[in-house]
Amino acid sequence: MDAVAPGRPRLVEVALPLPLLKTFTYAVPETTRHPLVPGSRVVVPVRNQRAIGLCVGESDGRALGDTAAKLLLDVPDAEPALDAGMLAVCRWISDYHVVPLGLVCRAVLPAALTVAARPAPAGKSERMLVLASELPTLVAREAAFRRAPQQRALFELLEQLGGRAPVSTLVAQLRCTGAVVQGLVQRGFARIEREGRHRDPFAARAPDAAPTVQATAAQQRAIDAIIAGAPGASFLLHGITGSGKTLVYLRVLEHVVRVERRSAIVLVPEIALTPQTVDRFRAVFGDQVAVLHSGLSDGERLDAWRALRRGDKRIAVGARSAVFAPLADLGAIIVDEEHEASYKQAETPRYHARDVALVRARHAGARCVLGSATPSLESWQNCLDARHTLLSLPERVGGGRLPAVHVVDLRQEQKVATPEERARRLVISAPLEAALRQRLSRGEQSILLLNRRGYASFVQCPDGHVAVCPDCSISLTYHRTPERLVCHYCLHQEDAARSCPDCGQAMARQRGIGTQQVERLLVERLPSARVARMDVDTTSGKWAHSAILDRVGRGEVDILLGTQMIAKGLDFANVTLVGVIDADVGINLPDFRASERTFQLLSQVAGRAGRGPKGGEVFIQTRVPGHHAVRHAATHDYHGFVAEELPSRSSPPYPPTTRLANIVVSGPEEVAVAALARDVTEWLEHAVLRFSLAITVLGPAPCPVERIQTRYRWHTMLKTGDGKQLTRLLRGLMGWVDVAADLRVVVDRDPVSLL
Ligand code: ADP
Ligand code: ZN
Repeated sequence: MDAVAPGRPRLVEVALPLPLLKTFTYAVPETTRHPLVPGSRVVVPVRNQRAIGLCVGESDGRALGDTAAKLLLDVPDAEPALDAGMLAVCRWISDYHVVPLGLVCRAVLPAALTVAARPAPAGKSERMLVLASELPTLVAREAAFRRAPQQRALFELLEQLGGRAPVSTLVAQLRCTGAVVQGLVQRGFARIEREGRHRDPFAARAPDAAPTVQATAAQQRAIDAIIAGAPGASFLLHGITGSGKTLVYLRVLEHVVRVERRSAIVLVPEIALTPQTVDRFRAVFGDQVAVLHSGLSDGERLDAWRALRRGDKRIAVGARSAVFAPLADLGAIIVDEEHEASYKQAETPRYHARDVALVRARHAGARCVLGSATPSLESWQNCLDARHTLLSLPERVGGGRLPAVHVVDLRQEQKVATPEERARRLVISAPLEAALRQRLSRGEQSILLLNRRGYASFVQCPDGHVAVCPDCSISLTYHRTPERLVCHYCLHQEDAARSCPDCGQAMARQRGIGTQQVERLLVERLPSARVARMDVDTTSGKWAHSAILDRVGRGEVDILLGTQMIAKGLDFANVTLVGVIDADVGINLPDFRASERTFQLLSQVAGRAGRGPKGGEVFIQTRVPGHHAVRHAATHDYHGFVAEELPSRSSPPYPPTTRLANIVVSGPEEVAVAALARDVTEWLEHAVLRFSLAITVLGPAPCPVERIQTRYRWHTMLKTGDGKQLTRLLRGLMGWVDVAADLRVVVDRDPVSLL
């Protein structure tokens, strides 16, 4: 490579997607294809290969030391890929989450701009397996597949995926051969179709007509306040379910786009599950909307990105990563359902889209609106601290009523005679079964929700008491080898075989119920019911969720059974019953947000059931009917919940009273993982002492989910009120760790899940 004598040429700092917390200095040739400014993409030599980086500023060359700067090879674009505001946002993410700036830039830009390889040609077709319309019923099914268990597995997977899925995905998931696919096709249960790759599900949807409704007084107050907001102002729009938050967003956007001629971003938690919301924006703004979703190919994503960059489209609607949409002159960023955990990216860089939205809005002088029926306690606290302006929509539009919620005390169900009956009633209680039968006889539909987040298990006595850490107020997690109860926040341990300290009865391990178990029971008890199950959590399954919900909408399903994914899609007039199989699983997760998440889920379910004129009923099954998450969800009382939950976050302190960072060490050898976790913890404790930092170090301990795939996981937690000190400590740590090839240390700041 050409080296340049130091001193003369112009030098720039380049961020590269490498796992090093630094930028790299390159020299600029005398002539470049396009002007080079901060934010421009550059092609540079890295160890004799070409890499794409991002120019992040001029350099004084000091970082070079004695080495000579290499010449950068090309400036491929006429315009910078990131403007100054976005570059500032990337820097903030890099600092706050202790991630190399180059990795942040790569996450922010469309994939097609960050790899040197050419994107795959568009228009290639893919073989899809499609379920035939004549299907064996559940009863005949045993016979049809007795000799063909693999065909049955394939058939059921396809069914779960909504009856249509790429052959390649199915074969990969089941690890089966093409012969199994052929067998199913030959027997007429499915057929093969060819379809253009990356079908855009939104291209085919006809948007609703634009609403011509008059805003209510409460909506108008919110709209006026947001429009009048100062540049960078933030708002929390707290509106109960059905209070008409979307109309507020639409009117604000009309002002931003049509009056101010600026642009806007709308974030939704999971776009595949909220097609109706997206349709409402397209109904008003038509072609001006770019819908960014996971179904786009790299090429389509790049097209959308360019259209936004050029200003051809003025509104970006999408999930988490749409917060990086390259819009100039932003007037507003809307974050719908701001409490949703899916706004937090689960891999590096572990940013939270809501927080990025606030930072970006400040840089851009845009308003930021966070909307929710059940705001996160962090956002609520920010309102109390006057960081956001609170706007409320306390009533349903048109005076609609919220459904009646029945809390079923499972402790009563336990008192029946035979063990078989007891086991059955703990899954589907007598009141819930009676309600299901009633719906069937009336031709109405039901949804059963199985709350299953993570797989940590806990112990509970028959009266509902759960073993809890005395220091951390967190449910103790059951570990099998050796058998013990562990607080995974502080490593406090207890005998697993102990009896309940409150009532003296034996404590039993709670495993949580599986969807298949519930399905079997339903088929047995209600043989005439058409049951659909929705519990596959794969990428290819994402669109299948809306396909299954469409089937529910067409009345082809009597009982839909699924995990909390289904809660988001609940908007059917003929669904008049929602049952929550076991609220306790969520309440007792070893996570300080367990109550908050359960309250949000139950409220969402309770607020969505029975939207039609037939009304609706909700049944919540629990052993702890007095728990505040259950009581306040049953009465639709957010303020009541917050009044109990917020004080419990101050001793011991948890967010929003304090801030957390979770440091996870993982690797294939448990001994090495535990040893490194101890070294990391010691380094942190030492640094805290030496620099007198106001930071508490907790751990190390095995993560509640001790092993994911083949990697063992241990973690250490940091608690502090001082975010700046935490940033410095984390940077120090990540500069210090130098791990062997198969070990990994990851910082998760403001974690949304501690499993
Ligand atoms: P939220 O998102 O707050 O749960 P939505 O925005 O979905 O509520 O609104 C609920 C329903 O009320 C929608 O069908 C919407 O079209 C309707 N709606 C909203 N505002 C008005 C209004 N001012 N007048 C009449 N209908 C409205
Ligand atoms: Zn503890």
